[in-house]
Amino acid sequence: MNAEIIAVGSELLLGQIVNTNARFLSQQLAGLGINVFYHTVVGDNPDRLKKALEIADVRSELIILTGGLGPTKDDLTKETIAGHLGKKLVMDENALNSIEEYFKRTNRIMTDNNRKQALILEGSHVLPNEHGMAPGMKANANGRVYILLPGPPKEMEPMFLKYGHSALLNELESEDKIISRVLRFFGIGESMLETEIEDLIDNQSNPTIAPLASDGEVTLRLTAKHSVVETALELLDSAEKAIQERVGQYFYGYDDTSLMEELTKVLKEKELTISAAESLTGGMFQQEFTSIPGAGSLLKGGVVCYTNEVKHEVLKVKKETIENDGVVSAQCAKELAENIAALTNADIGISFTGVAGPDELEGKPVGTVYIGIAIKGQPVRAEKLNLGGSRAANRVRTVKYGCHFLIEQLKKG
Ligand code: ATP
Ligand code: MG
Repeated sequence: MNAEIIAVGSELLLGQIVNTNARFLSQQLAGLGINVFYHTVVGDNPDRLKKALEIADVRSELIILTGGLGPTKDDLTKETIAGHLGKKLVMDENALNSIEEYFKRTNRIMTDNNRKQALILEGSHVLPNEHGMAPGMKANANGRVYILLPGPPKEMEPMFLKYGHSALLNELESEDKIISRVLRFFGIGESMLETEIEDLIDNQSNPTIAPLASDGEVTLRLTAKHSVVETALELLDSAEKAIQERVGQYFYGYDDTSLMEELTKVLKEKELTISAAESLTGGMFQQEFTSIPGAGSLLKGGVVCYTNEVKHEVLKVKKETIENDGVVSAQCAKELAENIAALTNADIGISFTGVAGPDELEGKPVGTVYIGIAIKGQPVRAEKLNLGGSRAANRVRTVKYGCHFLIEQLKKG
């Protein structure tokens, strides 16, 4: 099946937003073994959208549209497709009910144009919207499959994962079951990982192995196809085994997990509490930690110790340390980690201090980071990182490294 993604929205053409929907959908379709040959972007203009549909019809069997399903006058995707396919738009009672519910729940008044969002293409299969109002849909016509999805990624992505993915699996003619497994790695770069398993990637066919790097992490998506589910799983197992033998020391988890989620699992298992002293990361560690459901009771608390004054007055970093070693130093990181644990009576203290950029600090280059780790009953240690990225990337990576070092250490002892 050859696919084309049409993103509708003038703001995309004006450069006001990036077409992340196309990226997300392309990744998902690759995982399903569907070839994406074209990305199209078209403004909120029915004539040009109609032309784009005419072109897509000639070259693609699956046409996925995002955007323009909302209540306002410029949202014209459904109307245009209906005209193009010669189908009527009909009111979907379930969708209408859930829109009415949505307004009740959020305590807002429903204006009349919102009813428009419950109109669906006659005969289409509805993809419910659990994070907004406009439902998505799948329509089969002229031997092609059309999928309409809302524009906002926070509505579109969960809708696709929960409903679009399986609707597409049903469309794929083959009897084969397609099963994917994502392996997540940290502490190894994409090119190094690819080099380590180059021959496995080159010789892949079933399962396919697709690497992807983002935010200092690398993932491998393995996708196996077979008519028998158990056989597909065996194919995945043996490919995974070959990969783990080479780069297993960098592996941390499967599918949609995160380093933070894995850390909270280890802490829970070992019944350990943690606190954080955050200079460089300004609370990011705690923010991410508390966003994991059920992890709350594992975090005792923390201090954002951005200034030297707070490091010294609140977290009792010694004056000599600040004067002699500086605040971006192993010694400062160790004192912060030990003292935050003591101050909050936690089993573990972690600290982050460093130079996020764009300017140097204490003569240390941007990206110099120290992470202090104090685990009850073990000598306190500090890890040094030399990150070279932007301010934002350095902060994100620092938190990830913190999780990574802790997981490693806790799994050892
Ligand atoms: P709404 O009900 O919010 O109007 P809609 O389905 O009509 O949803 P649009 O009006 O086209 O969608 O877009 C709404 C918002 O969704 C945009 O302002 C933008 O923030 C986001 N968005 C739309 N298309 C994309 C895209 N291709 N990639 C990333 N974000 C997008
Ligand atoms: Mg809209």
